[in-house]
Amino acid sequence: MTSNLSWLEPELMDVVRLFEGAETLSISHTASEVEGGFSNVFTVEGRPYSFFEEDVAATETERKSLVKRYAKLGLYRILSEFYQKSLPWGSLTGIRPTRLAYQQLQKTGEFEQFFRKLGVSEENIALTARVLEGQRGVYERKEGNCDLFVSLPFCPTKCVYCSFITAPIERTRGFVPAYIGAVKRELEAAAPLIRNLRSVYVGGGTPFVLSPEELAEVFEAIPRREGVEFTVEAGRPDVFTKEKLDVCREYGVTRICINAQSFSDKTLQAIGRKHTAEDVKRAFEMASPYGFEINCDLIAGLTGESFEEFCGSVDEAVNLSPENITVHTLCLKKGARLKEESKTLSEGGMSEMIAYSRKKLTEAGYLPYYLYRQKYMAGAHENVGWTKPQKACVYNVDVMEESADNLAVGSNAISKKVFLQENRIERLGSPKDIPTYLQKVDKLIEERRKLFE
Ligand code: SF4
Repeated sequence: MTSNLSWLEPELMDVVRLFEGAETLSISHTASEVEGGFSNVFTVEGRPYSFFEEDVAATETERKSLVKRYAKLGLYRILSEFYQKSLPWGSLTGIRPTRLAYQQLQKTGEFEQFFRKLGVSEENIALTARVLEGQRGVYERKEGNCDLFVSLPFCPTKCVYCSFITAPIERTRGFVPAYIGAVKRELEAAAPLIRNLRSVYVGGGTPFVLSPEELAEVFEAIPRREGVEFTVEAGRPDVFTKEKLDVCREYGVTRICINAQSFSDKTLQAIGRKHTAEDVKRAFEMASPYGFEINCDLIAGLTGESFEEFCGSVDEAVNLSPENITVHTLCLKKGARLKEESKTLSEGGMSEMIAYSRKKLTEAGYLPYYLYRQKYMAGAHENVGWTKPQKACVYNVDVMEESADNLAVGSNAISKKVFLQENRIERLGSPKDIPTYLQKVDKLIEERRKLFE
C-alpha cells in the first residue's frame, strides 16, 4: 500500500484490514484537492479507479479530515466491489461514529444521508440516530465543562481477556498506601483547575478491592460538588461488602457499577473470575437499599459461551433492572491472555448475540445512549451502552463524545483538554505501571497544570 501522502497510509490500511485477504493486494494511491472537491486515484492489482467528491473545507483541520475521509471511502468502494461485501459501518473505521454524526449535524443539519454515502448500513444509521436521542438532555459542548476520573488499578484476580496493567491485589497490596497518597496529592492539585464539574468517576481496576477505610480516604480527597453525578466502579461482586457501600453513601456516591460480564458460572470460571452468577445477584440485593443508580456490563463473544448462554445473561441483567446495561463485544488487545488461548466466535454467532441484545433491551424499555468501536473487535461490531429513559450516565456520554475536559488522576489514566473551537484535543497520559507512576507523579501534576490552566 503506497500513497502520495504518507500520513494517509496507516489510515488506508485500516480499510484494507476490514477485508480478509486484502492485505496481499498491490495498491497505490494519489490524493489531490481540486476545484470544488477532492480527487482520489487508486491502482489496485494494476487496475485504475478514480473518484471525485464535491466538498469544501472551512479550516485546515477540516481539510485534512476530508482528504482522509474521501480517500478511505474510495478504497472501501473498490474493496467492497472486489470482495462483493458490504460492511455494517461502511468506510468508517473510527471508534466514535456518533462524534462524526454530531459534526455533520452541525455542518449540514443532518447526518443520515452522509452516513449512507460512507456505506453505513441502514440499521447502524438508525442505531446512531437512537443514540443521539438517548443522549438528549445530557450531551453538551460548552467551554469549561469537565469530568474527573480517579484510577484505582487494583483487582482481586486478573481476568483472562483483560489488557490493563493490573495484577492480583496480593501482588500489589504493598503499593496501596503510597498510591493513595499520590492520588490525594493529584486531586488537591487538580481542584483549582476544575470549572464546571459534570461528573466524578472512580474506576479501575476494581476499586472495591480496597478496604472501606482506604476507599474513604480517596473519596474524602475528591473535590465534590453538590448535585454532581458521582460513580464508583465497584466492580466485581466478590469484593462487595455493606461497609464499602456505606462509605459510598457517606461520600455522596450516586451510581455504582456492578460488572457482571456474564451470568453463566461456566463462563465466569473460564474468564478467571472467582465469583458466581449468584454472587452478582447478591451484590444487586446488597446495593438495593442504598438507592444508587446501577450500571451493569455484559460481554458478547466470551470464550466458549453459546448463543443461549449469552441470551440468558441479557435476560438476567434485564430482570435485575439496572439503570444502565452496557453490551460489550469481546475485544482482545495485546496483554490479554485470552488472545492467545481463545478460538474466536464465528462472525454469524456474534451478530446473532448482538441482534438479540438489541431486541431484548429495546423491548424492556432501554435506549442506546452511547456506542463505540475498537480496533481488534470481534467482527465489525461495537459496544453499546443502554439506559432507562432519563438515566444516562453523564460521565459515559462526555467520555464517549469527547465533549468535555477530562481531568484524570492516578496511573494508567489519560487527561484530555478539549479545544471546542478548534475541534481538537490534547492528551496527557500517566505511566501505566504503579512504580513508575509513583516516581513521576510530581512531574505529572505540573504537566497537567500547564495543560489546563
Ligand atoms: S477486567 Fe476489570 S476486573 Fe478483570 S482484571 Fe481487568 S480491570 Fe480487573
